[in-house]
This record gives sequence, structure tokens and C-alpha cells, in this order.
Amino acid sequence: MFNYKCTSCGKDYGRDEVRYLCPACSKDYKPGMPLKGVLTAEFDYDEIRAKFSKDNPDLNLFSAVEKEFYPEFFHGNTPFHKSARLSGLTGFDNLYIKNDSLNPSGSYKDRASFLVVAEAIRIKEEKIVAASTGNAASSLAAVCASAGKKALIFVPESAPKAKLLQMHVYGAEVVTVKGTYDEAFRMSMEYTEKNGGLNRNTAYHPLTIEGKKTSALEMYVQNGFKAPNAVLVPVGDGVIISGVYKGFYDLKMCGLIEKIPRLICVQSESSNAIHNFIESGVYKDAANPATVADSISVKTPSNAYMARNAVVSTDGFSVTVRDEDIMKAQKTLAGNTGIYAEPSSSAVLTGLLKAKNNFDNKEQIVLLITGSGLKDTAATAKYLNG
Ligand SMILES: *Cc1c(COP(=O)(O)O)cnc(C)c1O
Ligand SMILES: [Zn+2]
Repeated sequence: MFNYKCTSCGKDYGRDEVRYLCPACSKDYKPGMPLKGVLTAEFDYDEIRAKFSKDNPDLNLFSAVEKEFYPEFFHGNTPFHKSARLSGLTGFDNLYIKNDSLNPSGSYKDRASFLVVAEAIRIKEEKIVAASTGNAASSLAAVCASAGKKALIFVPESAPKAKLLQMHVYGAEVVTVKGTYDEAFRMSMEYTEKNGGLNRNTAYHPLTIEGKKTSALEMYVQNGFKAPNAVLVPVGDGVIISGVYKGFYDLKMCGLIEKIPRLICVQSESSNAIHNFIESGVYKDAANPATVADSISVKTPSNAYMARNAVVSTDGFSVTVRDEDIMKAQKTLAGNTGIYAEPSSSAVLTGLLKAKNNFDNKEQIVLLITGSGLKDTAATAKYLNG
């Protein structure tokens, strides 16, 4: 159905020949570096094109796991719509929202968790392990619950309370780490190397990227079989933006669209490793990634290389935003659309306002809203109470 291709050296692998990274390129990998040898799935695009019909569009044609292995977890197909009020307020004619805060666990991560759990069902793995700033874990816990699989989570103890609570209520085994997300990442990798299980770490498992491509496929259909002009994406590890790129890439390879939208990377001013990498071409960790937008707080983004490519190859750009502006945008977004988004997702509105001059006001611009504000009400309370 598909082959894996190494994004570093270009070598092809059969689907069941490798599980995580390209063995050759990841040989010298040590925790604390962006991943090298991340795999991407290359499909038979002629075959998909031949089967795809606009009368009855079946997006499962693009899936890296067969439908028979899908868990009973109904996610995605989230609303895509214009916001006239936000368009008016910002001075753009065609400002759209893709509202992924409406996924069952409240974040975009459900797309990746779903596909990795489907893969676990296919290869008969019972335990799925992940490190997370919060949402990947609460999402994995939710999908595992629907499939009767075990979720083992490594999460920093500073994760917002609602996210920790979600993991517990879905029945996951939770290890709280006295340290940062980057340390949780290291611990989870050590765990699966020693004890097995399927590791869902973002970008490390190639199907996290495949799972995260589906919003692009949906937007294409919801938009009348057209790609929008630009999509603003909140970026932490850089997997959502790589996934959005991959979805549009697949559509382009099938000849269904001509051009991949410009992809705009939005990061917090402090958690800015991918931003700096895009601007300078030289990779360096974020010195101190602390930000109110916990979902995009990453010192060493695992998918820095693919994320940079997603932006550069689509003539996109990157912008960083300040915490106080993120919280202001949360209130503006909520107050004009009825969508209460996490700080990370609110950051895309800040990014749009800050980079206003980089857009033409006739363009169709999409704000990718990746998570619900109800996951971190403490951040909002602190802002509103000044
Ligand atoms: C994980 C996450 C992001 C960032 O995604 P990356 O793949 O880490 O870049 C943005 N917003 C929300 C709500 C998230 O959970
Ligand atoms: Zn390689």
C-alpha cells in the first residue's frame, strides 16, 4: 500500500521493515537532538487518483492503516468555516477556521493517536507509550480506552490539571516527571527500548505525521475541492505543521491540487527553536521554552527538519508571539467566534495580526485551532484577573 522513505537520506523501506526512524540516519541520535531519519509514507498516488471520486470522496484512500483496524473512536471531520466577524475585525476578506478543538479529547492530537492505535491493533501491540506536554497523552489515553489498549504516559508534573485529569479518567498509567517535556521524552524512549510496547512519540513514530495530515484532506473537501492559500499553525515539535504539509503533498501528488498552501509557523517568543531554524538555517535549542502556551513549549523540537521544509518549500514564513498577546487573542477569538481555544491555538490569531503585511487581504487564510481552552482554564483565569 505504501513505502516508508527516509526524509534525511531518501532510502526506502517496506512498511513492516522498520518501525520508527531510518536505522542508518538515527544511528547517532541521542536525546536532546531533533530527530534525524524521520520516515514519511509514500503511497501509490496513481492508484489513489484512479479511485478518488469527488461525488463520494473517500479520504480513507490516503490512510496508512486499513479501515478494518480502526478503533471505535470518532474524531476529525471538524468544522471548517469562514468567520465573517473575525474577517471584519482583522481586515481580511476570507479568514477561515478549522476547529480541531472539537475532537473527543479536545485536541488535534486525536488524529495522530487514532492512527498509531490502529497500527497497534494491526501489529498486535497491547501497550502504547508516549511522552507529552499534556494533549498527546490525554488523547492517547482516550483512544486506547476506546480500543481496550494500555496507555503508559510520561508527562511533566507542570502539565495543566485538566489534561492530567483526562489521562486518569480515561484509565492510563501516568508517570509524572519532575522535569520538562524533553526529559519525559527521554524517559519514554528508554522505556520502550528496554521493555517494548509501541512508542507514540511525536515524529518518532512515522504514523503520527500521517495521522496529523488528515485535516488537510478534510479542508480540501470542505473547501469545494480546493486548497486554501495559507494556513497558520501553532508549532511545538513541528509535527502538526509537517502533517498538514503531508496532507496537501499527497493531494498534489495525486494531481488533485496544483499548489500546497503557504504554511505559516507560529511559535512562542521563548519556545522558538523552529522559528530560528527557519530564519537562520542553523539549528539551536530554545534556551528557555517556558510559555503560557504549554502545548508548544519545547526545548528540542523532534521534527525540526521536516517543519522547516514545510515552511520553506511552500514559500511560507515563521513568526513568534508574546504570551500576553496570546492571552489577548484568546479573548478576541472567543469573543468574536464563540470558540474558546487553548493558548497555543490562540497564538495563530496573534501571529496573523503581527504578520498582517505578509498577507493579501483577498487570500483565503486558515487559522488552525488545535485545542480547547477548557483544557487550561487556569491560564485564562490568571489573564482575566490581571
Ligand atoms: C501538540 C499541540 C500543538 C503543537 O503541535 P506540534 O506537532 O508539537 O508542533 C499545538 N497545539 C496544540 C493544542 C497541541 O496539542
Ligand atoms: Zn536515512
